[in-house]
Amino acid sequence: MFFQGVTFYVTPFLLHNDNKMIMSVIDMNEQSKLLNLENARKKDQLKLMEKITHDGVCPFCQEHLSKYHPKPVLFKTEFWTITENAWPYDFTKKHFLVIYNEHINHNSEISPKGWSEIGLVIKKLEEEYGLKYGTLLMRFGDTKKTGATVTHLHFQLVQSDPSDPDYDPKKGLLTRIG
Ligand SMILES: [Zn+2]
Repeated sequence: MFFQGVTFYVTPFLLHNDNKMIMSVIDMNEQSKLLNLENARKKDQLKLMEKITHDGVCPFCQEHLSKYHPKPVLFKTEFWTITENAWPYDFTKKHFLVIYNEHINHNSEISPKGWSEIGLVIKKLEEEYGLKYGTLLMRFGDTKKTGATVTHLHFQLVQSDPSDPDYDPKKGLLTRIG
């Protein structure tokens, strides 16, 4: 059968345009390469991810970031865009996203200059926000195996908040990394 094994998603707002019937279909297998809804941690995050899936875009690509990411851009470099995570992990004081400017999903695609720039970006964040401690992590590749929500490559720079009354020093700050 022609459609076997492939789910199509119809975007209704594109069905009529200048009296012409336009069938706009997005291959959900393609869209699932951009986002993994199963890894959403918050209800409003899931709601936005469903809208992004409906719109068929990558929320971290430069042309979509301001529309789909609720936090402002803090600064940009040639290879990276720095902002805050809109849905920080529990028990964080600071939670930055450092997003590669091009749409890539694997660390092997980061250019040598991109790698050297990430060091400068982290140093700048450390200095500007007085980070005396923190955790840097980056997931890449298959989101089903990493826990990422957005495949577009990004680092997370996280600073925990042990002063939070619900923070358990034995567990600390937990997130899925695989
Ligand atoms: Zn992208």
